[in-house]
Amino acid sequence: MTEQSPAGNFHPEDAPGYESILQCMRCGFCLAVCPTYALTNRERSSPRGRAALARAVAEGKLEFTPAVRDEAFLCLDCKACSTACPSGVRVGTIMAFCRSQAQVFHPPSLPAGMLRDFILKRMLPSPALLETSMLPARLYQRLGLQWAVRRLGINRFLPGALAKMEGILPTLAPPLRPEIPEMIPALGKKRGRVGFFLGCAMSLVFPEVSRQTARILSRQGFDVVTPREVKCCGAPHLAEGDRETARHLARINIDLFLSLDVDFIVTDCAGCGCALKEYEELLEGLDDHERVGRFRAKVRDISEFLAETGIRTGELRPVPMSVTYHEPCHLVHGQGLSGPPRQVIRAIPGVELREMKESSWCCGMAGSFAFKELEMSRRILDRKLANVRDTDADVLVTANPGCHLQLAWGIRELGMRQPVLHIVELLGKAIPQ
Ligand code: SF4
Ligand code: SF4
Repeated sequence: MTEQSPAGNFHPEDAPGYESILQCMRCGFCLAVCPTYALTNRERSSPRGRAALARAVAEGKLEFTPAVRDEAFLCLDCKACSTACPSGVRVGTIMAFCRSQAQVFHPPSLPAGMLRDFILKRMLPSPALLETSMLPARLYQRLGLQWAVRRLGINRFLPGALAKMEGILPTLAPPLRPEIPEMIPALGKKRGRVGFFLGCAMSLVFPEVSRQTARILSRQGFDVVTPREVKCCGAPHLAEGDRETARHLARINIDLFLSLDVDFIVTDCAGCGCALKEYEELLEGLDDHERVGRFRAKVRDISEFLAETGIRTGELRPVPMSVTYHEPCHLVHGQGLSGPPRQVIRAIPGVELREMKESSWCCGMAGSFAFKELEMSRRILDRKLANVRDTDADVLVTANPGCHLQLAWGIRELGMRQPVLHIVELLGKAIPQ
């Protein structure tokens, strides 16, 4: 995506690669898998249409208009079109470049820009600041205000995005990053040493899930090193068009994890895993390729890691339940991992995996999309939950914090019965404390 090519009407810095755009042969195989095309039936909101828009800008036939910007931000970057495309066109990635371009051609207003810069350049790169920013939300819950707001139906009077934020917020525990031991030794026969990449959302919103991940890795025979200096993976920056900060964070994380002398770098967040695996592309032509490649070669999603190294099944106890599995876009399309999560689920005695229809269809979260495009996000989610309901499974399993939040919210809203579990929570049930 970083090949030298004419930028046309794109700004030359961080322009989508022309050669990548040209690979689109307009076959339309991607149309059936694109959630925004399914909802709008509009060519320009399809992968093929977006590739055509980018091509027109790259060839100087179209200015980078507000319509191009809007399509870039409407794209979920779910990457489903990449899986479907016979030419290997990655429209989600092309649109991510276009989001960077949008900052040049259509910068936000001064207050919006200041807020954006504060979040992307100050708050997200600072785990301590990020943790502090969650204190009001925890206080809101601790003081019983959330209970009162929901009980009295006050949230129905909140503006749409705020109401969704309030509704999606799970009960927050203290963040895991400051608490988790930096080294958890392997139990039983030692099989290796892993660096645990603890993502921001996992630490802040799902600390118990990541505690399970570290416990499972240790029980599986791996020393678990979790560095407190870890930074955000940069995924939110790529999504919002701030590639400069994403590169800065990538360099810090690469230096940090290469200094740990670990065999693997494991994450339990599909979004983080996808971003870490894309560092090579992000830093291509800028940084020491060998170093970045060495980092990339160690990165594994937790289910990929467990499937690859083999789960010690001897101590697993039965978990008698039926589950259905929602595939996070950043796992199935972003990392090509469809089999390993199922291998992990099937390794648990007593678990019956009931496949849902369209398991790899997006849940409608897609970062800020869920709050900016409330109606579309809801319709994408409804389609997903109808498929969940059809399985009549006891539990819905997934592997990404964004999906987890969105699915759990939708299930509560619809009064469905399934709890949502991360795949390591399911596996954790099979491993005695
Ligand atoms: S993006 Fe790929 S699948 Fe879609 S029209 Fe172009 S070549 Fe075909
Ligand atoms: S990344 Fe997803 S939303 Fe974007 S064009 Fe491709 S299929 Fe459509």
